[in-house]
Amino acid sequence: MTTHRTPAAAGKSPPVPLLDVNRGNAPLRDEILAAITKVVDSGRFLFGPDVQELEAKVARHCGTEHAVGCASGSDALLLAMMALDIGPGDEVICPSFTFFATASAIWRVGAKPVFVDIDPQTLNIDADCIERAITPATKAIIPVHLFGQCADMDNILELGRLHNLHIVEDVAQAIGATHRGRPAGSMGAIGCLSFYPTKNLGGFGDGGMLTTNDAQLAERLRLFAAHGMSPRYYHKVVGINSRLDSIQAAVLNVKMTQLEMWTERRIENAQRYNRLLRNDELPGVLSLPHDLGYGLHVWNQYTIRIAGGRRDQVKSKLAEAGVGSEIYYPVPLHLQECFRSLGYAPGSLPETEKAAAEVLSLPIFPELTAAEQETVVARLRDAMYTQRKAAA
Ligand SMILES: *Cc1c(COP(=O)(O)O)cnc(C)c1O
Repeated sequence: MTTHRTPAAAGKSPPVPLLDVNRGNAPLRDEILAAITKVVDSGRFLFGPDVQELEAKVARHCGTEHAVGCASGSDALLLAMMALDIGPGDEVICPSFTFFATASAIWRVGAKPVFVDIDPQTLNIDADCIERAITPATKAIIPVHLFGQCADMDNILELGRLHNLHIVEDVAQAIGATHRGRPAGSMGAIGCLSFYPTKNLGGFGDGGMLTTNDAQLAERLRLFAAHGMSPRYYHKVVGINSRLDSIQAAVLNVKMTQLEMWTERRIENAQRYNRLLRNDELPGVLSLPHDLGYGLHVWNQYTIRIAGGRRDQVKSKLAEAGVGSEIYYPVPLHLQECFRSLGYAPGSLPETEKAAAEVLSLPIFPELTAAEQETVVARLRDAMYTQRKAAA
C-alpha cells in the first residue's frame, strides 16, 4: 500500500454507491405494497386498470395523445421499428455511443443500423453526421437523449422533414426532459421509454412504454405488442408478446407521484458537482457534462471525461475507496463483435471512440447527500493525484 503518501490516507469515508434504489423506494414502501396487494387480490395481472392509469399519466407527462405499455425499453424500440414497417433493405441511422438496444431493434427487424458519430460536448448524436449518412435506403433516425439531455432535435426533425424519415426518440434515459419546451417522446413519430430500475422512473423489474400523437400508430403499436392479433386468434401481422405487467404498472403509478421531485434532486446534484469539481484542482479531468441549456436536462447520469489511459485506473481507485462509478459505454456499438459484418473499422467514428475511452459516470441518484457528493469529489481528487504521482 502506498496510500500513506497520498491524500487518500487522510481518512476513510463511508462508501457511496453509484445507485441505491432502496433509498427512493423506502418512503413509498407501504404505498407500493398496498398497490401490489390490490393487484394480487384483483387477479388481473395483465391489462388491468393500473396499466391504463400509467399510460394516461405517462402520456400527460410526455405531452402526447397516446401511450402504449410494453415489456421493456428494448421492446419499445423493436415495436417502433415493426409498426413503422422497417425491414430488410432499409437503413436506420443511430448513434454508436448508446446502449445496445437502440441498434439491436434495427437489426432484429432485418434492417441495417447505420452508426454515426457524436457531438463531443453533449455526447449526443451529431446532426451533421446524420445528414452525411442519409441514403435513398434510409427510413428512420433514432436519436438517443443520452444521460438525460435531449439530442439536437431542431436539426434532426428538420432532416426528417427534408428527407421524409421517421424520427423515433430513444427516451429510455430522459423521461421528463424537454427541448425548447417540448417534452422528450413528443417530438418524433414515436418515443420509447424504459422503466428498467436504473432509469429515472424505475420499476421493480422490466417495463417500457411507447408515446405517440398518432392514433393510428398507437393502434398499430398495440397490435404488434399483442401478437398482431385482432380479433382474438386472428392475426393481421406477425407481432410479439410484449406487455407491461399490472404489478409493474401499480408500482410505477406510485413512483410516478415522486418523479418531478426526483428530477429536481438530480438537477441539484448535478449543479453541486459542477460547483465542487470546478473549484477543485483535478488534473486529468478533461470535461464536466455539457448542458446546452435548450431545455430540461434530467440527469440520468453525470458523466465526466478523464484523459485517455487514466480513466480505468481512476475507476479502480474510486472502487477501492468505496465510491461507485460506471463506464457508459466502454465499447461503442460499431465495434461490437455482433456487428462485425457491418464493416466498421476502429477509427471510423473518432469522437465516439474517444468518448468510450474517457467517460466515467458518478453517483447522481436523487437521494444522494451533499456530504456524499463531497466524498465522491474528494476520492476522485485522491485518485487523480495518485495517478499523477504514478505518472511522474
Ligand atoms: C436502458 C436503455 C434501453 C433499453 O431499455 P430496457 O428497458 O432495459 O430494455 C434502450 N436505450 C437506452 C439508451 C437505454 O439506456
